[in-house]
Amino acid sequence: MTALAEPHTDIANIAGMTATLRASYNAGTTRPLEWRRHQLQQMIKMLEENEAAFSDALRIDLGKPTVEGFITDIAFVIGEVESMIKNLKKWNKPERVSSPIVTQPAKSRRIPEPLGVVLVIAPWNYPVQLLLVPAAGAIAAGNAVMMKPSEVSAATSTLLARLVPQYFDSSAVGIVEGGVAETTELLAQHWNHIFYTGNGTVGRIVMAAAVKHLTPVTLELGGKSPVIVDESANLRVSARRIAWGKWLNAGQTCIAPDYVMVHEKVRAEFVDELQKAVTAFYGDDPRLSDSYGRIVTNRHFDRLRGLMAGGTPVIGGEAVADDRYIAPTVLDNVDMSSQLMHEEIFGPLLPIISISSVQTAIDHINANPHPLALYVFAENKRVVDNVLSTTTAGGVTVNGTLLHLTNPNLPFGGIGESGMGAYHGISSVRLFQHMKPVLARGTKLDPSLPYPPYTDRKAKIFRKVL
Ligand code: NAD
Repeated sequence: MTALAEPHTDIANIAGMTATLRASYNAGTTRPLEWRRHQLQQMIKMLEENEAAFSDALRIDLGKPTVEGFITDIAFVIGEVESMIKNLKKWNKPERVSSPIVTQPAKSRRIPEPLGVVLVIAPWNYPVQLLLVPAAGAIAAGNAVMMKPSEVSAATSTLLARLVPQYFDSSAVGIVEGGVAETTELLAQHWNHIFYTGNGTVGRIVMAAAVKHLTPVTLELGGKSPVIVDESANLRVSARRIAWGKWLNAGQTCIAPDYVMVHEKVRAEFVDELQKAVTAFYGDDPRLSDSYGRIVTNRHFDRLRGLMAGGTPVIGGEAVADDRYIAPTVLDNVDMSSQLMHEEIFGPLLPIISISSVQTAIDHINANPHPLALYVFAENKRVVDNVLSTTTAGGVTVNGTLLHLTNPNLPFGGIGESGMGAYHGISSVRLFQHMKPVLARGTKLDPSLPYPPYTDRKAKIFRKVL
């Protein structure tokens, strides 16, 4: 597989493109709900009318199986945007709240107000979803938005850069392509919010750049998301659900199970069940399966091949450089001091670690940075409750993987090293809004109580009512 040339926008144009969005925002273009609704409808139209082209681009970039691309990049965005359109009025309505007695006569509201001009920087692994869902939130909240897809998923970036100007109001919805140089130039501009998804090293660069204008940032980062398999777990179902979450997109998912800590009593049976799941999902030779993806670049392929040295393959282990193929791989005899156990795997390698008790797993999790996701498999509810109440994670699915991300009623995001801020559903809209507090008083009554002179009588009343 040959890599595509890195797509990029002329750096000299970036400041001007940003100024266009600012002028349009300042002119009030993005405020009317009708404008927002139309842009969101256009997003759906763009995806529906070009579904085949998106599917092709995702296949070129990631060998993404058509069904996976449809579920995770196309249908997921459409679902989120449909719900935004349906709730647009409700989520943008001022919220009435009560007013304390001393403020009377008064009415209080929280008025959702857009932040201004938003920058969204996306990574390559779900290159449509991770660009468009935050952008949709920014639009629904009434902002102008600049999108920056990842240069690593070049085919998808090129397609988006061609389609976005055709479907959106270009005065307020822009797109810039490119890598470090172009993103650095973007980060030098003045934004009212920066939404970044990717690794923590660049997350720090983004946050440092935001300091200049005191720009709020959302950082959707990664890390090692652990799985606990208790001795009470339903092993067949657990193995299937872990296999699905791990080998979707060839393991290149921010919340993919990174490693499994399984109770030693059920370890052998669990590995057998994993093998059965791999064969059932991808056949005897997953390389021939059209339900299994590829590693995004040669650089990422080499990194993953290097990580394999941290354990012994008991399932899979094959790697074919020409095809950027790495088999669904389970690693045993894991060296806890190896790179495999110290950096986010972000690929199809699954280390298995035996534990003598769930407490060992909890201690391990608490000795490491807060993960983006945590998975616990157990039929014993007390075990689940104990894990939930003694660990911290961006999000959790119990007896499953990935699915907490798919519920729009659950805010999605990390904590600590795995990120800050959360989105999806109404959270995507609130993230890009200021809930402006307004207290409005009537003038028919104007009690003299709060005004000087502060008599003893007034002091007594204050002591009673405050
Ligand atoms: P990437 O290489 O595509 O980088 C992400 C973005 O940062 C790109 O748009 C890129 O152009 C830009 N970038 C890269 N270097 C930069 C620099 N020096 N200055 C400014 N911008 C720069 O993607 P990645 O970081 O390899 O993505 C993988 C990581 O993202 C993993 O850690 C994964 O867990 C995480 N991730 C998190 C989520 C989430 O929702 N929390 C989702 C997907 C991926």
